[in-house]
Amino acid sequence: MTEEAFDVVVVGSCMTDLVSQAPRLPKAGETIHGHKFFIGFGGKGANQCIQAARMGAKTAMVCKVGKDFFGENYIQNFKDNGVDPSFLSSSFRSVTSAFVTSAGENAIVIVAGANLLLGGEDLQQALPALSHAKVLVSQLEVSPDTSLQALRLAQENNVKTIFNPAPAIPDLDPDFYRASVVFCCNESEAELLTGVAVATVEDAGHAGQELLRRGCRSVIITLGSQGCVVLSGQEPSTGLHHVPAKPVTAVDTTGAGDSFIGALAFYMATFPTMPLQEMVSRANQVAGVSVQKIGTQASYPYKKDLPNNLF
Ligand code: ATP
Repeated sequence: MTEEAFDVVVVGSCMTDLVSQAPRLPKAGETIHGHKFFIGFGGKGANQCIQAARMGAKTAMVCKVGKDFFGENYIQNFKDNGVDPSFLSSSFRSVTSAFVTSAGENAIVIVAGANLLLGGEDLQQALPALSHAKVLVSQLEVSPDTSLQALRLAQENNVKTIFNPAPAIPDLDPDFYRASVVFCCNESEAELLTGVAVATVEDAGHAGQELLRRGCRSVIITLGSQGCVVLSGQEPSTGLHHVPAKPVTAVDTTGAGDSFIGALAFYMATFPTMPLQEMVSRANQVAGVSVQKIGTQASYPYKKDLPNNLF
C-alpha cells in the first residue's frame, strides 16, 4: 500500500441544495414570499464520503461538479472536510436541487447536470486511487453504467465494495448484485428491487434473502428507527440478524441513510476483521446522532462528537 492509498473512495454525486422555506407551496404561476433561504451541501455520494471523512477515514471523491459558483463552493466543502478532491472534475453543466418547503410538505426540482457526465474516462483517471482503496462506495445518482464500472474495477483489484442502489431503478443490471461485497439499501429500495413489501423486520429478511439469491455476499436493509437487518451469504442457515437502533429523539432524518453508509465504509476500512454485525451496530449509532440535528451534512458527527467506544 502506498502513501497515496485511501481508506474510502466514493464514486458518486454531489448536489448543491437551494432551500427556500415558505408558509405553503406556491401554486402554478403564483409568486409568494418565503421567510428563510439557505444553501446546503448534498448528493448521496458526497454525503457518504463526508461522513466517512469526519470519522477519520482518508477519503477521496470521484465526481463531477459544475464550472461555476456552486462547483467552486463544493470543492471548498470537500477540502474543509478533509476529502481529497484530486479526482474531481468540472463540466459546464451545473448541479443543483431547488427545494421549496413548508411545514410537512416540500417540492423539489433536481438538475443533476454534471453528475450524469461522470464516465469511464473519469474512472480511468481515478484508477490509482480506486485500485488501491480499502473500500469503494457507489450509488445510482450518477449513470448506472459508471457505478457498475467502478464496482467492477474495485472487484478486479480486490477492493471491498459497498453498493447503495439509491435511488432504486427497476430492472437493475444483475451484475450489481454480484459486484457488491455489501449491498445496502433502505426498505423502499428493497421493495422496489425485490417486489417484497417491506413493513417489518421479517419482511426485510425475506427481501434480503432474495437479494442474497441474486448474488450479493452480504445485504443490509436499513429500517429507520428500527435499525436494520443484516444477512450474510456465508451463513445462510443462521438467517437474518436484526440490529436495532438505540431510541433517540429524531428531529430530521434527512440523509440518515448516507450517514449510516459513510460510517459503515469507515468501519470496513479501519477495522477489516470486525464482524459485520458489530460494524452495523456502530453505524446505527453514528446515524442515530445525525437524526438529532437539522440538515443533511450539517447534522453529520465528527469523531470528536462520538463516544470513544465507537472507535
Ligand atoms: P435517507 O433517505 O433520509 O438518507 P434512508 O431511508 O436511506 O434515509 P433510514 O433507513 O431511514 O435511511 O435510516 C438509516 C439509519 O439511520 C437507520 O438504520 C438507523 O441506524 C438510523 N436512523 C434513522 N432514523 C432513525 C430514528 N428515528 N432513530 C434512530 N435511528 C435512526
